[in-house]
Amino acid sequence: MYAMPDAGFLLDSAPIAGTVPPWIFVAMEAAKRKYIEKPFDLFAAIFFMLSRCEEYGFEEVDRWNRFPAQASAAMKHGVLTLPIVDLWLQLLANKVKEFYPSVTLCLTMPSPAFQPSFDIDRAFAYKHRGLPVQIGAIFKKLLSRKWQEAALIWKVCTGYRNDPWDTYTLMADIHASAGITPLFFMLLNHQSNWIEPIGHANKAWRKLTKALDTYGEIGLHPSIDASSDFNLLLQEKAILEEIVQRPIQKVRQHFLTIRMPNTYRLFHACGLEQDYSMGFPEQVGYRAGTGRSFPFFDLDGNQETNLTIVPFVAMDTTLRQYMGYSPLKAESTILTLAEQGYRAGTPFMLLFHNESLGGFAEWNGWEKVYANCVDGIVKMHNTSK
Ligand SMILES: [Zn+2]
Repeated sequence: MYAMPDAGFLLDSAPIAGTVPPWIFVAMEAAKRKYIEKPFDLFAAIFFMLSRCEEYGFEEVDRWNRFPAQASAAMKHGVLTLPIVDLWLQLLANKVKEFYPSVTLCLTMPSPAFQPSFDIDRAFAYKHRGLPVQIGAIFKKLLSRKWQEAALIWKVCTGYRNDPWDTYTLMADIHASAGITPLFFMLLNHQSNWIEPIGHANKAWRKLTKALDTYGEIGLHPSIDASSDFNLLLQEKAILEEIVQRPIQKVRQHFLTIRMPNTYRLFHACGLEQDYSMGFPEQVGYRAGTGRSFPFFDLDGNQETNLTIVPFVAMDTTLRQYMGYSPLKAESTILTLAEQGYRAGTPFMLLFHNESLGGFAEWNGWEKVYANCVDGIVKMHNTSK
């Protein structure tokens, strides 16, 4: 654990309604000597949040070796869904204005204010998989008496129906009418136990990757093993670069299996420049207290790096799988988070999967959630201008 000089005490007090909560850091000595008006060390608090100090050396990780949201100070103090760092910055700007009326600290909204992104873990459900895999999938559904799903697979394989995870045309339409450019993080190396993965050697996968890179931008989605294996990470990056014929700089870790600081050190060493994994898998909100990009600071090495961290706020699987929300509740939660972020002047990144737009199996009823969220967020930004 890292001791903060003259600060670092976590208060147990709950956030106070209508104010910027909570006074996480108490500058004890300064408070005792009455040097400061409020016993709060704003800069230490911001550093604590952005450096992810609390994640270093944390041992009670989940089954995927991840730092759990419930262990975070932000969740314990009920501020995980608030961009608390941005609110503190507003507080600072107001305080400066109060003391020096001629000085205005301008907090501008970074561009883009809204960034949609997709993790492409499994590009197609049944299409382009080869006959043995398709027949195997049908038998599996028949054995578990899922007649409708078996019939659907048959229709997909015989060309009577579109693949339920092939939602790329729908995505393109949504993004074109909203005037936004998405990011796509491609998983090359999927460990699956129920159906053969469709990987980078597959022609259809390669074609899709190139197509997505022309209207959006492709990033690497390293396999879980690659998050701790430098050579494997380098190999996956090189394959993707060979497909799109350009250097890859963006990365988001599959399953968000980020360990501080090792995973970020590997990304940095591999020449990756922007990471998009900063968010909790099991809770929506601001893992680092902000939606703004910031440089990764290696606390163990006491070193600033040029790896930029770009946080996301909400993910489709978080809302359905971990939080158990209905499509309607998920939609309203995303829109509320986006509005709170916009009011605090912080960008909003959304993370979806191609699968959820297809409305198949566990995603039944989710077909419209993404389109409605994009529509709502874009309208909100346009009317606020
Ligand atoms: Zn993934």
